[in-house]
Amino acid sequence: MEKIKVLYIDDEQNNLNSFKATFRFDYAILIAATTAQAHTYLQENPDIRIILCDQRMPDKTGVQFFEEIRNEHPEPIRMLITGYTDIESVIEGINRGHIFRYIKKPWTDTDIKSAIEEGNKFYLTNSLLSIKNAELQSAYDELGKFAYSVTHDLRGPLLSVLGALQIAETVDDPDEVKEILGMMGVALTKLDDYITSLHEYYSLKRGKLVYEEIDFNTIVKDVAGLFRIAGSMEQIKFNVEVSQQSAYYSDIVSIKIILNNLFSNAFKYQRKEATDKYVDVKIDVENGNAVIFVKDNGIGIQEEHIDNIFTMFFRATSQDTGSGFGLYNVKDALNKLNGAIEVKSAIGEGTTFKVTIPGRTHGSK
Ligand code: ADP
Repeated sequence: MEKIKVLYIDDEQNNLNSFKATFRFDYAILIAATTAQAHTYLQENPDIRIILCDQRMPDKTGVQFFEEIRNEHPEPIRMLITGYTDIESVIEGINRGHIFRYIKKPWTDTDIKSAIEEGNKFYLTNSLLSIKNAELQSAYDELGKFAYSVTHDLRGPLLSVLGALQIAETVDDPDEVKEILGMMGVALTKLDDYITSLHEYYSLKRGKLVYEEIDFNTIVKDVAGLFRIAGSMEQIKFNVEVSQQSAYYSDIVSIKIILNNLFSNAFKYQRKEATDKYVDVKIDVENGNAVIFVKDNGIGIQEEHIDNIFTMFFRATSQDTGSGFGLYNVKDALNKLNGAIEVKSAIGEGTTFKVTIPGRTHGSK
């Protein structure tokens, strides 16, 4: 474990020396005989966690020094070293909230050690709190997007179905009824896709990764089955090539989410009028890494949109159904698995996604 970095400021060289001698094995110690030197150390060492300062420095008091650095260096925990005679200023410093503790002079090793350990605990709790705050903020942001998407993606298809039903009631021609049923089918598929994405979103957010042995041949067969049927109906050639040389352990749920979304997009974003439509999938597992290529010769993605396609609810085209959720989930799954994704795309020519996922050599248990 890395040592806690402590800055000790005192104008008496003897104190500095003995402090360093006593604690050099326990902590990473910087000593400063002047507040100017302390400022320099703080600039150069953003990882200083604890500052101990003598109250009686020649140019200013310890309390004044702490006040001075509070805005620029808010993170380190500040502790004042002082004799009893200075108690007024200690009270003032603590009340103003910028000193964590004071240590009475002359200090003992145990006083210092316990103060540093306590201060470190406080520091860790604080930094955990700021990480949690950032997570909370991003959860709020996502919630805002959800509120919009619920109306748009859940209510939209329902309204289409209701509208189609109303029309159907007034129509007798069986062909027309068939067409209306088709429209309802499209809307309901959209709804179903959205609910699947939502389910994937939550299983990725809440679910724990379970590492088990993965045979890509089997998993691809599972995932690709559905697309084969849809593909043959729309005359899309579907080539799948799997080469797995070594045992590979990963989280099946996440791998399926990744494959399912990439396959689904490759089939969805085809050029409707093209006659040579294809989706090529190539999976290589070697040295514990899986490298997956999903290539199509569909509509392609405009260059200016490529950076945004992994953002929640972002859509780069008005063609076909979709809520803009799929690639967000892919990215989320890859983040959890320490994987990476690259995209190459040209409008009217097609898109290739390359995914690399490091696996493990053993399971979770
Ligand atoms: P969606 O539900 O809209 O498909 P995704 O998050 O899966 O959402 O994809 C985001 C956007 O990226 C899509 O709306 C589409 O514009 C674009 N996109 C993704 N995959 C492809 C692809 N294979 N070919 C063309 N465009 C794609």
